[in-house]
Amino acid sequence: MPHSDDFLAVHDPAATRPAHAPDAGSGRWWGFAVVLTAGLLLLCGLTWLVSVQRGLASLQQSTATRADRYAATLESTLDRYEFLPALVSLHPFVRGLLESPNDPDRVAAANHYLAEVNRRAHASATYVIAANGIALAASNHGQPGSFVGTDYRFRPYFQIASGGTLGRFYAIGITSDEPGYYIAQPVESGGKVIGVTVVKLNLEWFQRAGNGAEPLMVSDDNGVIFLSSVSAWQYRTLRPLPPALQAELEKTRQYHDRAVTPLPLEPLTSPVTRWLADTTLDAGARLVRVRDDAPTTKTTFAPDGAERADRYLELGRTVGPAGWTMQVMAPLEPVLANARNATVAAALAYACICLLLVNWRQRRQRARDMLYSRRLLEAAYDELERRVEARTADLMAINEKLEEQVAERTRAESELRAAQDELVQASKLAALGQMAAGITHELNQPLAALRTFSDNTRVLLERGQLAAAEGNLTAIADLTERMGKITSQLKLFAGKARPVRRPVVVRASVDHVLALLAPRLAAVTISVTGLDDLPGLAVRADELKLEQVLLNLLGNALDAIATAAPQHGRIDLDVQADGHAITIVVRDNGTGIAPEALPRLFEPFFTTKETGQGLGLGLAISSSIVREFGGQLSVANVPGGGAQFTLVLARAPATDAADPARTVSAPQ
Ligand code: ADP
Repeated sequence: MPHSDDFLAVHDPAATRPAHAPDAGSGRWWGFAVVLTAGLLLLCGLTWLVSVQRGLASLQQSTATRADRYAATLESTLDRYEFLPALVSLHPFVRGLLESPNDPDRVAAANHYLAEVNRRAHASATYVIAANGIALAASNHGQPGSFVGTDYRFRPYFQIASGGTLGRFYAIGITSDEPGYYIAQPVESGGKVIGVTVVKLNLEWFQRAGNGAEPLMVSDDNGVIFLSSVSAWQYRTLRPLPPALQAELEKTRQYHDRAVTPLPLEPLTSPVTRWLADTTLDAGARLVRVRDDAPTTKTTFAPDGAERADRYLELGRTVGPAGWTMQVMAPLEPVLANARNATVAAALAYACICLLLVNWRQRRQRARDMLYSRRLLEAAYDELERRVEARTADLMAINEKLEEQVAERTRAESELRAAQDELVQASKLAALGQMAAGITHELNQPLAALRTFSDNTRVLLERGQLAAAEGNLTAIADLTERMGKITSQLKLFAGKARPVRRPVVVRASVDHVLALLAPRLAAVTISVTGLDDLPGLAVRADELKLEQVLLNLLGNALDAIATAAPQHGRIDLDVQADGHAITIVVRDNGTGIAPEALPRLFEPFFTTKETGQGLGLGLAISSSIVREFGGQLSVANVPGGGAQFTLVLARAPATDAADPARTVSAPQ
């Protein structure tokens, strides 16, 4: 027979498991994740590079425009003032002064003229130096820190101009301590330099030309930054100065007492920045870093101090006449920030796409799994149906078999019943035969005696022996009385009188039975308990029949004692009452009852007594009487020997209405 508990193990070849099922494909998922991560990194890197590249190109373009503008502004300023000293040198006041330097009128005229020119030209100072290097007149004459009388021999611009050419020089004023651009023009007379006219310009306004966030600086041919929008960078060098040059600077006091130290500016040299510079930047542009030891960097052009602009796109321009270089430093931070933002945005977009992809993959996977599960279920369902059909067929076969068995059993039962009926019939016949044998036996003896007595009596009468004949007749009467008793027993057993139930006082019945049996009871000890307290105790019964039952029980007890313990026989009769019932127990110390006899004790004609001693009807009749009263009669052996009969009857209301005149005939 097929078993249904393994149907889930069914495998339908059509429902093959998807190759990418999660348990089989976790490695594939890992691979997928690794590919996605690598893609993310690649995308981030590329985005960053492209963004930086574009940002740099754009920054370079805008910075270059601004740098050109700054350079043009500076150049035009310098050009504008280039001819001023030459003009001044041509003026008669100047020439007159140089020819007669000690003439106070000429000095005053020259001073006045220089002051006027200086005011109109918006220069810092305009002055005239004699060939010996001493300033003769100046626009700031008569003012504290006036140049008049100062010796300028050591100043390079004086030395150059003394040589007959235009001298240009940027330095810090030794008198005023203010930086400035000096243009010196030789004044010649008769092919000889008789003096020098100098115009000093203040170029510090140029430091503020930038847009604040974009440092600007101008360095001279030695690399010394003399103009810078970052004050901390001013008077620092772009490259270390050779000691000879350092000594020369000290000698010419070009930067007065300022310590000229190198600015920690270095090009960015990582492979990525080099690649970016090579692919994006024009000549003259480079990526640099200014180290942290320039502490005012951020306060100068990032007043809020929020950003640390230490990396720049440096764009150089050559300006001025003396090999000057202007550098515009555009911070890289905005470019890097933009690149960062673009990278983050690209990463987010990529993550979104990946999530969508994963989601799509999972949905597709789920759909496949569901399809697979459905196929599996369908296969299982088909198999289940097939098995249910098979099982149903099996069950139907079993059912048919069972029906056959039931029919067979019914047949067997009816046969058994017939056999039982036959048996009952046979046992009835057997009982009848037994009874017939008993009666025959009981009656044969007195009948034979009767015949003998009657024959003898006829002989005695023929002989005239009347007294003897009368004795025989008395014996004949006794015998007939005995036979009558036997037949009366049979009548009692057979008779089904209408049951009569009325209150019967137990005490009266017991006393009456004890009186009837008094001669036999004299040989044993009899004890009656339970009646003294309840003299009016009554049961629902017929008093004659109740006494017949008690007579039978006490008679049997006496018989058993006579067989087992004739010398010290004892009978206990105990009466107990409760709410609805009265129990009468008759206990003896006689033979007791053999175990095999116990179940048959109440059968009619069952007896263990000698033939002629008992018919085996006493207990059968007694139990039938008790049943008639709605009571029970039971038997048990007493431990230690003897038997105990228990009679239970329905209790009746207490009464004194006992009939003292009734008589009862003992059955035995
Ligand atoms: P009978 O007395 O004519 O044999 P009963 O029906 O009165 O018929 O008793 C049946 C049998 O029960 C008796 O033969 C006897 O073996 C047994 N029996 C009855 N009462 C007692 C008793 N008190 N002790 C032992 N055996 C008993």
